[in-house]
Amino acid sequence: MIYRWMFVLLMAIPGAAAPLAPESARLLTVELFSTRSVRALTVTPLGSGSTRRVDGQPALQPMTAPLQVEWAHDGLWLSPETTVKQLALSGGFRLQASGAQEILAAGKWTIAWRQDGLRVLLTLPSEDYVAAALNGETAPDEPLASLKAMAISMRTFALVNANRHGAEGFGLCDSTHCQALRLGRARPEVERAVRETAGETLWFGGQRAQVYYTQQCGGMSESARSVWPAERANYLAEHRADPYCLRRSSAEWHARIALDQLSGIFRAQGWQIPFPAESIRVTRRSAGGRAVLLEVTGRGATAKLSASSFRFAVDRALGWNQMRSDWYTVSVSGGVLEIAGRGYGHGVGLCQAGAYEMAVEGHSEAEILSFYFPGSVTGITAADHGWQKVAGIGWTLLTTDPRAGLLVDGNAAWVKAQSLLPSPAGSTGPMVQELPNTELFRQTTNEPGWLLASTRGNAVFLQPAAVRQNNGGAETLLLHEFLHVLVEQEAGEKAPLWLREGLVEILASPAEATRATMDLTASEVDAALAHPASAAASRRAHLAAARMTAVLCAHYGMPAMRGFLRNGVPSGVAETLGPVAQP
Ligand SMILES: [Zn+2]
Ligand SMILES: [Zn+2]
Repeated sequence: MIYRWMFVLLMAIPGAAAPLAPESARLLTVELFSTRSVRALTVTPLGSGSTRRVDGQPALQPMTAPLQVEWAHDGLWLSPETTVKQLALSGGFRLQASGAQEILAAGKWTIAWRQDGLRVLLTLPSEDYVAAALNGETAPDEPLASLKAMAISMRTFALVNANRHGAEGFGLCDSTHCQALRLGRARPEVERAVRETAGETLWFGGQRAQVYYTQQCGGMSESARSVWPAERANYLAEHRADPYCLRRSSAEWHARIALDQLSGIFRAQGWQIPFPAESIRVTRRSAGGRAVLLEVTGRGATAKLSASSFRFAVDRALGWNQMRSDWYTVSVSGGVLEIAGRGYGHGVGLCQAGAYEMAVEGHSEAEILSFYFPGSVTGITAADHGWQKVAGIGWTLLTTDPRAGLLVDGNAAWVKAQSLLPSPAGSTGPMVQELPNTELFRQTTNEPGWLLASTRGNAVFLQPAAVRQNNGGAETLLLHEFLHVLVEQEAGEKAPLWLREGLVEILASPAEATRATMDLTASEVDAALAHPASAAASRRAHLAAARMTAVLCAHYGMPAMRGFLRNGVPSGVAETLGPVAQP
């Protein structure tokens, strides 16, 4: 990751501070391990910035070693010290609980005591949440277009339901009740799908849409109203044929349950159902064909039972995934209830298997979303049209405002950058993404909001035009970032940060680089570039990097400098620099 200080520091951002209502990026508080009781956790800090605090302590303390947290009758027992009520953590951590998938994430954490185990809450950026949801609920070989359609759907769900569990003291749970999360390293395709849809949600009639998705609708999507009578969304009102998912699989399933066993399940629920049950039939179906109401008969009496209560009771008693949907036929033979079903899930909204197949067949994310949510529009706000891809000459612009004139500046900058540092033949040009607000810039780049731009590999991220406005022209800014892209294409693993930064500086503004002062050592510069404590510290490190590179370049020449970039800086060279580097 490359850090880049820009010409004027942004401490406050007037103009861009106008509230976007509703927000396209925010912090979300998630309950982790929500479907299990966790009594022991190993908490390992990742990186150098992780901190902790227990009740009573005034401030966060640096945390470098793993910590064992165990539930006890009177609080949390922390190895090797003491018993506390609550542990607060900040930064990146790995959490391991026996029998549960390990969690890797960064944010603000609270581990608290509750009667049945540890309560673990994580507050994280909404874009990180979307990546974790996409990681948790999509196929490992999911194509990009359906990943993007899912990212938009999941972000919509998260922002609409951000306080769904508000009464319990958090926002969302990490199970399928809300959206299943997998907080860990995401595949590059998942990261790309989140990044290229940053902030995008579905809108309907000027409001964020209510979205639902289902694993496999079985060939016929269900209307939301038949599953949730209170749901009034028009774009979910229809049940429609889905030819796509059936091309992947028929999604048929079967379940056999002995009537004796079933009677036991009904009794355990405390339901007034004839005992023992002798027959069951479906007496009402939705327009889409899913069971709505069942009738149970036994000893001459009958009772009505809702299909959803029936499925929940069976799944709870016999294990989830016994009955994978409400779309089935039933028959009784030899004291056994035979259920022949189709589809996985409630069938409402986006069918994941169908979206996958649409993507395989070459449909875009926009086509997928308008097939499953007819009439809805994708945008970052209700007023825009989401991300637009615009082709520059040799580079690509991703923006929500294609009229803004960045193309002319970018074309000039790319020509200039390539004349200064020609790129190897066949390399792909940069992708510039202009984020529409500072919070999305921060969440997408993991950089502080006072940066104007950030480059990672081939991707250049820009603050919105309103923020850049008073900080020099886009051409100068893009020249810098494009040089970073070119330097990164050439850099080997051993190239230090100061050399990568310094080369960009001396190519972009050679006069400034020779005038810069050098009051830091090479390792201090690298540390300050990697984790700048402030805008001022970042600026100082950039100037020192520029000066160091300028001194070496005057001594060895540019071809040798590019050799250092590819192969690392030899030790003799570092010694040349050594005495000069000291203040
Ligand atoms: Zn939930
Ligand atoms: Zn389907």
